[in-house]
Amino acid sequence: MGRKFVVGGNWKMNGNKSQICDIVSFLKTGPLNPETEVIVGVPAIFLDYVRVNLPENIAIAAQNCYKVAKGAFTGEISPDMIKDVGVNWVILGHSERRQIFGETDELIAEKIAHALESGLKVIACIGETLQEREAGKTEEVVFRQTQAIACKIKDWTNVVVAYEPVWAIGTGKTASPQQAQEVHRALRQWFCDHVNASVGESIRIQYGGSVTAANCKELAAQPDIDGFLVGGASLKPEFVNIINAKQ
Ligand code: PEP
Repeated sequence: MGRKFVVGGNWKMNGNKSQICDIVSFLKTGPLNPETEVIVGVPAIFLDYVRVNLPENIAIAAQNCYKVAKGAFTGEISPDMIKDVGVNWVILGHSERRQIFGETDELIAEKIAHALESGLKVIACIGETLQEREAGKTEEVVFRQTQAIACKIKDWTNVVVAYEPVWAIGTGKTASPQQAQEVHRALRQWFCDHVNASVGESIRIQYGGSVTAANCKELAAQPDIDGFLVGGASLKPEFVNIINAKQ
């Protein structure tokens, strides 16, 4: 069975209702390749607003959630709350959460496990820093991050992995299609060896890091790249071209 191409937008901490109307408008105008699954990652405060305004063929993701259902965790939101406003995805483990907010492999894995148990689908982000890449540690790092998740979950059906080299996020420096493909292939092999062949074959691995309309087609042509997670360009009309990269 083929892997459905999946493109996520990560708005990060950007936008207001007026800018959201512009984004909703270019997404509605499209046209969007119906063969591609589209998910937009929205700031928590706008999840409800965006769900009401976007057509159902576009899924919505929260950009974070906590590892338990409810309680005294000021400022956090739970998977149940996300689902309650009609949203069924969450992005977890983004490098900004890891680096700026100090989220560990273990916490991220706990959040992923709880989100899945609660019925959310997860975009699980992994990726190495420039220092780690230059030290030849790319595979070691992404395997360690993935292993931490594998220790806490058994079923990968509702997980999309986003390989996002930290040095490529928001920097304008994209991994070359060959660099990205090399890591994606290694990750798929890791899943075959450490989970099972069926997960290795079926798991979708997105590439993220300065994807634009100009570079998306060549990346999308790589055999182990199953979609993108897009930051800056997901706020602009060129996001439609990225969604349609396979056309
Ligand atoms: C991201 O935030 O996940 C990302 C890949 O950002 P950008 O596309 O801006 O590099």
